[in-house]
Amino acid sequence: MPPESVIGVDVGGTKIRAGTIARDGSFGRVIDVETPTDGPEPLFEALFGVVEQLLAEGPAAIGIGIPMNIDRRTGIALSAANLPLVSLDVGARVRDRFDLPVGLENDGNATALAEWRCGAARGASDVVALALGTGVGGGLVLDGRLFRGWAEIGHLVVEADGPRCQGNCHGHGHLESLVSGEAASRAAQELWGAEADAHRLVREAEGGDAEARAALGRIGHFLGLAIGSLWNVFSPDVVVVGGGFGAGAWRFLEESALAAARREALRPADESLRVVVAELGDDAGLVGAGLVGFEALDGMR
Ligand SMILES: [Zn+2]
Repeated sequence: MPPESVIGVDVGGTKIRAGTIARDGSFGRVIDVETPTDGPEPLFEALFGVVEQLLAEGPAAIGIGIPMNIDRRTGIALSAANLPLVSLDVGARVRDRFDLPVGLENDGNATALAEWRCGAARGASDVVALALGTGVGGGLVLDGRLFRGWAEIGHLVVEADGPRCQGNCHGHGHLESLVSGEAASRAAQELWGAEADAHRLVREAEGGDAEARAALGRIGHFLGLAIGSLWNVFSPDVVVVGGGFGAGAWRFLEESALAAARREALRPADESLRVVVAELGDDAGLVGAGLVGFEALDGMR
């Protein structure tokens, strides 16, 4: 008998990644398709399509991570900050189509689950995970269980009346508007013009450019304010910083982030708080989606 596996589907703002995942987080073939952004039905068709391509591998369940907040009572995916989608009954649609247990989770929560089970936060019982990419996602593990509420950590206010947030969010001074890859791109554009982006900002910092390092230091400061505040609420064993921008820029964010976090954290966390960089990289969303599938299979959701 082949080892038990599930299909994990990571629905991102630009692409959908799907693969067959084992309980230890290892995975085989991965399929990437572009995320249709012209409405719900094309999205469902793309989602069904990638699952169909993996069905021959005999999955026991399907897990889906999606960048939407989810109503726990009804399972409806309510809205997305960065996709034109509202009120989708994703879980029921996929369950009806494939007749398998289906788990649905916000992508930030799924990423936290992956880093906790298989990545940088293995063995911890309380974890705050942050993913700094185009936006800022996050998730929490509390008392040894994934917290299944919204955990929209990217929309914490870290600068009173600061810059307007991104996408459909009408807030101001949110973490996402100040520490995302998009925020880093804006900082790069202020230094070097419209063509510059976050990748250049990190490259210039690597080359020793003082302005680039200062800009990343400011971003790290805001990140640290959020980490200190989150620590005061959840007292996690560890904070994990990941996402494409977060992991790639971490060595230029770390010093100012830790300084700000330690300033804001209550004793004794002010000296002992632990922040680590994520281990799973681009795979965290896919692995997390698979682990959500295992939770559905195990009757945990
Ligand atoms: Zn926001």
